[in-house]
Amino acid sequence: MEDPAMSLLDPHGRRINYLRLSVTDRCNLRCSYCRPPGGDGGPAVGEILSDEDLLFLARTAVGIGIEKIRITGGEPLLRKGIVPLLSRFGEIPALKKLVLTTNGFLLREMAGDLRRAGVESLNISLDSLVPDRFARVTGGGRLRAVLEGIEKAQEYAFPHIKINVVVMRGVNEDEVVRFASLTLDRPLTVRFIEHMPLTGKDCGPGLTVPGEEILCKIREISRLTPRDKEDLGGPARYFRMEGAVGEIGIITPVSCHFCGDCNRIRVTSEGIAKGCLFSTRDVDLKPILAKGDAEGLRNTLRSVVGKKPSGHLFLREGRHGESVHMSRIGG
Ligand code: SAM
Repeated sequence: MEDPAMSLLDPHGRRINYLRLSVTDRCNLRCSYCRPPGGDGGPAVGEILSDEDLLFLARTAVGIGIEKIRITGGEPLLRKGIVPLLSRFGEIPALKKLVLTTNGFLLREMAGDLRRAGVESLNISLDSLVPDRFARVTGGGRLRAVLEGIEKAQEYAFPHIKINVVVMRGVNEDEVVRFASLTLDRPLTVRFIEHMPLTGKDCGPGLTVPGEEILCKIREISRLTPRDKEDLGGPARYFRMEGAVGEIGIITPVSCHFCGDCNRIRVTSEGIAKGCLFSTRDVDLKPILAKGDAEGLRNTLRSVVGKKPSGHLFLREGRHGESVHMSRIGG
């Protein structure tokens, strides 16, 4: 029986049990859709939350109803001491799921350590299986390193490995079927994400391929059987191709808002809490963390949840590309 005092309910009746926590805004790739041209002048070293602050925040959040924490970035594996930090997250007793999103670049070396630290699921971003194209999209990334990282992760038998593909018109839309086919004989989930035009210049709405169009491409080669949403899951809808070992997922932030099911809050690497990716009512947690004020932190997190909008206005009213820097917020 669940303790209702441990539930975080927002004013729209949604249960908030998922925290996305960015641990750095540094990244070793420069994906065109993520980081604005010229970078975004991230915080100087020292301004990001310390290990102790992150752990205090995580324990406090779990104490009031957060059950799943996703570690993200920037590239989280670049944070100094990330493995021991993850081990300490993994020891938080009531935390049901500790998961991580990475570009996979350092996975070959780190997969074993991550598994031992208690990370149970990996989301790996990978937008092309063509080396030159991958390098173009990521600002110079080496595809081979990421593929080897994925293989290593499979060797360490993470229960869930999800490949996140941001589908872009005229860039990688012709690879949808090839990506989906990876699930035929591998226990992977390949998730297709609609591109959100967030970085302004050269990144307009014309790049977005609607989720239904992505599914149609896959249906040309296979029937797709839908499955129920997972407990503590995110906004993806899942399907299985005929005879496939793995699954495909679709995430449609642009064509079909999933705000009705939103179960998350976010905290940036600088300690800014956001009730919504597009929220303008952010709260700086640093002063509260600096005081070690657990009650103040609980109340502040509850107030962030209490101010969650029912939905966001992204793309309506032409509001794209304004102020959302995924590289800072962590996706
Ligand atoms: N460095 C890690 C990575 O590459 O996965 C974590 C950070 S990244 C900001 C987290 C997720 O945000 C990735 O899956 C990425 O594809 C997604 N993302 C970033 N910008 C996006 C955009 N404009 N549209 C859709 N997804 C985006």
